[in-house]
Amino acid sequence: MLELDRGQVQVMLRSMGEPAYRADQLWQWVWSKGARDFQEMTNISKALRARMEQEFSLGRPRIRALLTSVDGTVKFLLELSDQEQIESVLIPEKGHYTQCLSTQAGCPMGCIFCSTGRMGFRRNLSSGEIAAQILTARDYLREQGADPARLRNIVLMGMGEPLLNWEAVRRGLLTITDPLGLGFSRRRATLSTVGIRGRLQEFGRSRLAMLAVSLHAPDQDLRRSLMPGAAAWEIRDLVGALEEYPLDPRERITVEYVMFRGINDSPAQARELVRLLSRVKCKVNLLACNPVEDSSFQPPGLERISDFEQILRSKGLTVTLRRSRGQDIMAACGQLYVEVKQTSPGDRGDMQQVKDHGRMTNGSLNNC
Ligand code: SF4
Repeated sequence: MLELDRGQVQVMLRSMGEPAYRADQLWQWVWSKGARDFQEMTNISKALRARMEQEFSLGRPRIRALLTSVDGTVKFLLELSDQEQIESVLIPEKGHYTQCLSTQAGCPMGCIFCSTGRMGFRRNLSSGEIAAQILTARDYLREQGADPARLRNIVLMGMGEPLLNWEAVRRGLLTITDPLGLGFSRRRATLSTVGIRGRLQEFGRSRLAMLAVSLHAPDQDLRRSLMPGAAAWEIRDLVGALEEYPLDPRERITVEYVMFRGINDSPAQARELVRLLSRVKCKVNLLACNPVEDSSFQPPGLERISDFEQILRSKGLTVTLRRSRGQDIMAACGQLYVEVKQTSPGDRGDMQQVKDHGRMTNGSLNNC
């Protein structure tokens, strides 16, 4: 059932002789009210409920493991119907939550600082698997006695490159932003991408969510060495597309720049970044990388970050310094997957609560 879009539900119910409004009722039960059982749908006839039960499932990704950070960040390891596993992260903010969704199991882009990139690509997620991560998080909040309506922001920044799975992402975003579906405002939904030629423009035309672009370097050579999969689109051409990207008057593109000590954190590189972005309507998110196991990447010192930030600000760029969340629970995409695979050889199917994990890893929630 979660794989159908609203139009398909309408066509299906019409062919069963049901009135047009029935599709909206069913759709609201599935997505807005988060029904787990057709029998909950009390304004739908018993006969139709029985028929739906026979023909469809409301199955959603199963929580295989759950890690809670000391800062309140919750990381779900979710198992899909074919036993493939993905991560989804729930981040508490002031008065609300943000959820980071995965769009692929693994990722083919091969960014060398990213745990998911090291996993390689497993498969694309379906539109239902993308949107249902939100149902799982809402269920969790309900179980914890929290108001699921406080989950207000979503970011497509988890495992995978969303624009390589554009059709499923597009359909998932339609459900996510549908007022009768999951009901998120488009301004509270952000898609983070390394930039895929053609798809970026298509996404811009769709107006389905805000755009964040992972740059991480001010020049093509460095970017290619850090993000080999992204190098097919030359950085100047990518930035040229950002200059033309359709935005409402008050909107800006978010440029993500993860800082690595001695690699992309020099004053000269800050000036180069300023020049590169001089005609892009954007704000820059700086985030110091965190140490990753089996990796030589280190975060720059505070002074180095501050100098870099000041150069950007002094040239008129809007800059935010992002805080890492969930460092103690291996919040980097892919890390949890690897760990659970190693420690849970059987299909235990139970929920695992791990606190104060204590291993230092890449705490960035956004690998992209
Ligand atoms: S950083 Fe993003 S695009 Fe790069 S390998 Fe990781 S998940 Fe894929």
